[in-house]
Amino acid sequence: ATPTSIMVGTGKGAESGILIKGAEHLEHAHKLTTIVLDKTGTITKGQPEVTDIVTLAGLAETELVRLAISAEKNSEHPLAQAIVAYGQQQGIALSDPESFTAIPGRGIEVTIEGQRILVGTRKLMKENGIEYEIAVATIEQLELQGKTVMLLAVENQLSGLLAVADTVKESSAQAVAELQKMGIEVWMMTGDNTRTAQSIAQVVGITNVMAEVLPEHKAAKVEALKQEGKVVGMVGDGINDAPALAIADVGFAIGTGTDVAIEAADITLIRGELTGLVAAIRLSKATMRNIK
Ligand code: ADP
Ligand code: MG
Repeated sequence: ATPTSIMVGTGKGAESGILIKGAEHLEHAHKLTTIVLDKTGTITKGQPEVTDIVTLAGLAETELVRLAISAEKNSEHPLAQAIVAYGQQQGIALSDPESFTAIPGRGIEVTIEGQRILVGTRKLMKENGIEYEIAVATIEQLELQGKTVMLLAVENQLSGLLAVADTVKESSAQAVAELQKMGIEVWMMTGDNTRTAQSIAQVVGITNVMAEVLPEHKAAKVEALKQEGKVVGMVGDGINDAPALAIADVGFAIGTGTDVAIEAADITLIRGELTGLVAAIRLSKATMRNIK
């Protein structure tokens, strides 16, 4: 490999918003057989908005929203920010929780006015012995629309549902199609539930979906694909994605994502679009062709 062509390639990348940390990454990117894409913030914009509020157990809607925004005010999760923003729009005042615990990949546990409140996934409810059977049909119906549904329990009783929707980035479907045309196998990986994940995957043309993957298992999923002999590129934006980005053959960070993801990655897509990923792989192919 001539250092000159690598330098030219790296320079061309920088001009098109592709920041390559080292020559070896440009040399590896053309070998990728498989790309794993995080969902939230990578395929989608990562700016979810509340779409539906469902009250259960006789709770008034404003009270449900008040508990939800109070519970979520200390969470950095994009879903939490969506809920808090919704409460502000409605002009609902929040209270300060007495305690707050984040449970990664599942939700949160807080104490508000002496009441124990849980907000999160069905798994979180199940682990705490909270019945949610009555809401399953409603939850599944919302998920089929690509929405993420969070369950809220007060003192071990399911009291409401909050659904949010995130928008797919305009260029995501085109980028997926171009990767597939290049013969690259494309996967979606997310902590979100299977139905929501499938719905978003369908919009962008992805058929391989790994859903309900806990943050601590994302890297192992990438490693498993590598063990099958695949050369794996991972694309992500979140703190949760950092270990998977590091373990992938080539890790790509979304430039608008968290610093932790950018640090763990080999290549940063400054413009935050998946078309940048396609351009990076093309650049790698062109660079390696010049070398040979
Ligand atoms: P992602 O792969 O989209 O980054 P996470 O692993 O962070 O997802 O979270 C998985 C799921 O856990 C979310 O879809 C949501 O249902 C639930 N969850 C995580 N954090 C919160 C929170 N702060 N409040 C409510 N639910 C949450
Ligand atoms: Mg993400």
